[in-house]
Amino acid sequence: MLSVVVPARNESANLAPLLDRLVPVLGGLDLPYEIVVVDDGSTDATFQTVMALRERERRLKLVSLSRNFGKEIALAAGLRYATGDAVVLMDADLQHPPETIRDFVAKWREGYRFVYAQRRSRHGEAPLRRFLAKRFYRVFARVGEVALLEGGGDFCLLDRKVADALAAMPERNRFGKGLYAWVGFKSAAVPFEVQSRLAGRSQWSLWRLWTYAIDGIASFTTVPLRLWTYVGAAIALLSLAFGAAILLRTLIWGAEVPGYPSLFVAVSFLAGIQLIGLGVIGEYIGRIFTEVKQRPLFLVDAAIGFDDKATDPAPPAAPTKS
Ligand code: UDP
Ligand code: MG
Repeated sequence: MLSVVVPARNESANLAPLLDRLVPVLGGLDLPYEIVVVDDGSTDATFQTVMALRERERRLKLVSLSRNFGKEIALAAGLRYATGDAVVLMDADLQHPPETIRDFVAKWREGYRFVYAQRRSRHGEAPLRRFLAKRFYRVFARVGEVALLEGGGDFCLLDRKVADALAAMPERNRFGKGLYAWVGFKSAAVPFEVQSRLAGRSQWSLWRLWTYAIDGIASFTTVPLRLWTYVGAAIALLSLAFGAAILLRTLIWGAEVPGYPSLFVAVSFLAGIQLIGLGVIGEYIGRIFTEVKQRPLFLVDAAIGFDDKATDPAPPAAPTKS
């Protein structure tokens, strides 16, 4: 069986067109299938739209979260409910052409456990966004502990093994692309062209992308922490050399009084440097804090269509407490 997990936040206008294209594709695969829409705290009629669509498509299921948890967590919720031997993750806004799923399944049948769509270009995006994304991949490639799949990752097919591995990861700061890379397994890329969003607006502001990038770096490397040792060592060495120079100069030419401006610059520069260092440490401590609280990753308000039970508030496999 194939499961398709679709995270949706305020996508009521897109779900019917999505289904119109998705169902024929899935029907032609000659595999039983289910479509799991995760309503991620939508404030529009997404819930009602899915319920209405269920009248004509019984294989459509709905997991409704108690509030907005963000796409990555919505995906984790979908993964926990999806029961297929393979799980496709795709956006609800038709930016991911459903027809690509045919190629996914073909690759999966060849034995690949992780098949992802790789965009051919980023030309639909604003130049600033494209530039920043490029930078991010550049930086991540240098410091990250895993190699990210460039130009892809959020439209993909996961074999059951990969899906289970991801569902078993309890981390709260979920950086999907990094997690896919971390689990490994034999993977294949399928080229595709990103479409523009059918209706509505992207939920990803530049600020949110920035936070996501920091999440990515902080979840997959401790290099920023270690960096401060070197920054500190370099500044200490420079100060020693400077001190020695001043000592020599004083011994040879005597003491001179001026120097307050330079003193002030040095003090404020160092204060700034130290605060940045503290901020970086804070990033990591904040992450430790959210992890040790051990709150559930998400809360489900209703799960509809699973085992034909009307509501099932408890996820099938609750995260294990260690
Ligand atoms: N999404 C979600 N929760 C959120 C934000 C987005 O489930 O808090 C879903 C959204 O409905 C869509 C997908 O994630 O199906 C991608 O979101 P969007 O189109 O806003 O992002 P972009 O395509 O700009 O990366
Ligand atoms: Mg989108």
